[in-house]
Amino acid sequence: MALDVQQVILWLIYLFGSITFILGLKRLSHPETARTGNLMAAVGMSVAILGTIFLYKDTNGEKLHNHIWIFGGIIIGALVGTLTARRVKMTAMPQMVSLFNGMGGACAAIISIVEYQKYDFTDSNITAVTLAALLIGGVSFSGSMVAFGKLNGNVSDKVFPGQSVFNMIVLLIAIALGVYLVVYPMQNIVMLTLMITMCLLYGVLFVLPIGGADMPVVISLLNSFTGIAAACGGFIYHNQVMLTGGILVGSAGTILTILMCRAMNRSLLNVIIGNFGGNSTAATQAGSEKGNIKEISISDAAILLSYSKKILIVPGYGLAVAQAQHIIHELEMLLEERGVEVKYAIHPVAGRMPGHMNVLLAEADVSYDRLLEMEDANAEFGTTDAVIVIGANDVVNPAAKNDKSSPIYGMPILEVENAQNVIVMKRSMNAGYAGIENQLFYEPKTRMLFGDAKASLQKLVSEVKAN
Ligand code: NDP
Repeated sequence: MALDVQQVILWLIYLFGSITFILGLKRLSHPETARTGNLMAAVGMSVAILGTIFLYKDTNGEKLHNHIWIFGGIIIGALVGTLTARRVKMTAMPQMVSLFNGMGGACAAIISIVEYQKYDFTDSNITAVTLAALLIGGVSFSGSMVAFGKLNGNVSDKVFPGQSVFNMIVLLIAIALGVYLVVYPMQNIVMLTLMITMCLLYGVLFVLPIGGADMPVVISLLNSFTGIAAACGGFIYHNQVMLTGGILVGSAGTILTILMCRAMNRSLLNVIIGNFGGNSTAATQAGSEKGNIKEISISDAAILLSYSKKILIVPGYGLAVAQAQHIIHELEMLLEERGVEVKYAIHPVAGRMPGHMNVLLAEADVSYDRLLEMEDANAEFGTTDAVIVIGANDVVNPAAKNDKSSPIYGMPILEVENAQNVIVMKRSMNAGYAGIENQLFYEPKTRMLFGDAKASLQKLVSEVKAN
């Protein structure tokens, strides 16, 4: 059999694409190499896409010919993606991730619908994989759309009695319809439409009841669904690079989901049916203890920090909102010049997306060596003179440890109350994402510094310089 040179080149391109994905993913594990890792994977993907467009041949030996449609779609998609990604605020990143992830799920589902209608059903494996891609992609699409709405504040948690059982029935119907279509291999558009409806319905019902503070876990779970659906697509088209990419996204998403569950000390099942940190009554009841708060002036805060030996900074969502990452780095360097040891304590779910604080601080050139993970930070609070909590709330809420009625009970937190002094920077006494009171603010060793984090830090930097 003569060797098809174009086919060999395409295989090599796919091999190159797969290697760049793996190396790119590896580089994403460290902020210093993440940018090049991202670029590397993007180059691999672009080459793989171009290779597919110009060299791929289907089972009849035909190449892709509808280039105008293909490039039209690519140009529109690239324009929309680039403009959205450039304009999106850092704090709205999770919504964008959800939206784009949903698009990936929709692609996998649409591919399945199109391919199903072309089959002669001689290979039941392919039919099964196609319908699996439809199921997973469909759930990922509608679930991500609901997650987008929730993160954007347009959709609130919805729980009704017996919802878990109802959800399970919808999922089982969707699976049963898929099995039926594999066992009775023929074009059955009515059954297919019913299956699509059930998949989309399940995605909506699955995400709707999930409580606010659990959204990070759900986002990474949906992300892994899209990866698995894309891997099924690779199987359908015998496309190795699609298969590799899908498997990498699917497995990375699954690992991240497990890590996030561990970080919150919860099982995945508990996340899915638990309504953690939603608008529950427990959330509002947790505010009953309260007490008096003490404030601290900028000058007193500057003196306290300047005369400390060791300081830990706890960044949270408010730091991202205020875009105070550069000014906190300036304060850190100023204090270091004066002989103060300064480090950052990073909670795994601080902010609004996995790794949010790491990305933010890397953007401001904060040295990665200064970032302490939760366990390491908790071991150091006891020997810390002062902690500065900047726009963080849920991740330092002691109710997670000592209030069984609290919706965040069981989530590991940064134990800042073990330090000698705690300064909390925020604008008001408003709650954080989980919507609950924080007893830390009423502790005798805590002092509140009210105001926008960036404005307060700017004043603090000037005051420290003046000291
Ligand atoms: P929180 O949402 O608990 O609290 C943020 C605090 O920042 C608020 O209390 C707010 O108080 C304050 N704040 C807002 N804007 C400013 C500003 N401009 N200047 C100063 N302070 C400001 O944040 P945490 O980081 O502590 O916790 C993250 C929460 O988000 C967790 O519940 C987590 O589960 C959830 N989550 C995390 C995701 C992730 O992947 N990391 C994704 C989705 C949710 P005030 O209004 O008074 O200023």
